[in-house]
Amino acid sequence: MLLRHTPVEIKERKSLTVNPAKTCQPIGAMYAALGIHGCLPHSHGSQGCCAYHRSTLTRHYKEPIMAATSSFTEGSSVFGGQSNLLQAINNIFTIYNPDIIAVHTTCLSETIGDDVNQICRKAKDDGKVPEGKYVIHTNTPGYVGSHITGFSNMVKSMVKHFSESTGEKKNQINVISGWTEPSDMREIKKLAKNIGVNIVLFPDTSDVLDAPQRGKHSFYPRGGVTIPQLKSTGDSKFTLALGGVASEAPAKELEKKCKVRYKVVDMPLGLSATDRFVTACSRAAGVNVPDSITEERGRLVDIITDMQQYFYNKKVALFGDPDHLIALTEFLVDLDMKPVHIVSGTSGKAFEKRIRKILENKVPEANVKNGASADMFLLHQWIKNEPVDLLIGNTYGKYIARDEDIPFIRMGFPILDRIGHSYFPTVGYAGAMRILEKILQALMDRQDRDSLEESFELVM
Ligand code: SF4
Repeated sequence: MLLRHTPVEIKERKSLTVNPAKTCQPIGAMYAALGIHGCLPHSHGSQGCCAYHRSTLTRHYKEPIMAATSSFTEGSSVFGGQSNLLQAINNIFTIYNPDIIAVHTTCLSETIGDDVNQICRKAKDDGKVPEGKYVIHTNTPGYVGSHITGFSNMVKSMVKHFSESTGEKKNQINVISGWTEPSDMREIKKLAKNIGVNIVLFPDTSDVLDAPQRGKHSFYPRGGVTIPQLKSTGDSKFTLALGGVASEAPAKELEKKCKVRYKVVDMPLGLSATDRFVTACSRAAGVNVPDSITEERGRLVDIITDMQQYFYNKKVALFGDPDHLIALTEFLVDLDMKPVHIVSGTSGKAFEKRIRKILENKVPEANVKNGASADMFLLHQWIKNEPVDLLIGNTYGKYIARDEDIPFIRMGFPILDRIGHSYFPTVGYAGAMRILEKILQALMDRQDRDSLEESFELVM
């Protein structure tokens, strides 16, 4: 009973968050930056922020996360961090030789008002940025938004710094990946290849954070979108932005800068959202969907049909990031399950509206909330008032699952106590099959555990 003090009675709270269902912006900027080949993320602030963000990413991906910090002292906190950042840029290029440094700010540097744009310009003017190397930057105050906002800001910054239009269109479409796992990015590229569409996926952390053991440490793994690819996004025919919260802002920026039209589609997670992604890809490229993808979809539909009785009417509570939750809620409704409690720590008016639209005919009475006061404490209270058959979310959900004895599936960020998310996708039809397997495993294990001896079934 680790959360034994969580009361059943729900009281209106203002200006108080208990166990937030999110983390802060810089970690998202750091993750996005790792999706550029040869990039060293740089945290402009104190060492503690950088250490926290690196360690959380390291624990989630089980890979060493490289990132530098401006290492603020009391002096820089009072007089500003310009000299620290200038020195850092010089040191990083001299010692670690990345192709690009991606600077993001933190609470401290934002509060004292450091102008990173001006500092990065000065670094270039002072000759601290070698020829052919780049420094990009974005503002990510930790006290505004969430890790998803930070991710989005860094991707927008990639567009601002690199995308250029030569006037000659290339036969390719951009896919802005949103915050997904390396395994998901790999799957999106595989799907696009099978459809026959040439894409530039950015950012792309596959082969960076799921790099194979090659017997030798590589500071900059082989993966990641390259700078020439990023530059070419301005010449693409079209942009697909996966998930509005994380990807619309960079897509909009690209349209403004290089006149590349865009469409926001949901994260291709589950049956309907993957259908829409596949259709959007094939339309944008003007090709037909190949049989191999139709067959894969058919296998997914077959599992849903075969196992329908296990999904029907099961109540689910879920928490996590908005773009994932929108697609996941729709998938659960497609399975005839009942998502009754949904929480996301990331703010934004569109989220609740969209979720309510998905649920309007199936679960109109569902509890849905997002933003700062939509926390794990509230989710736990909702569950105490209306118990569920399944809980889906990141590792922090294990406390609620244990206290309330609920089957629990780990999905989202961070997952600190299991592996698999980096290697097995949850997007696309193959990913949807994996989600189904996880749901069935959790529900059927529970049925086995709770069956009386006389009704304990060998064949289920
Ligand atoms: S919330 Fe602010 S101070 Fe805390 S880790 Fe994030 S950036 Fe650093």
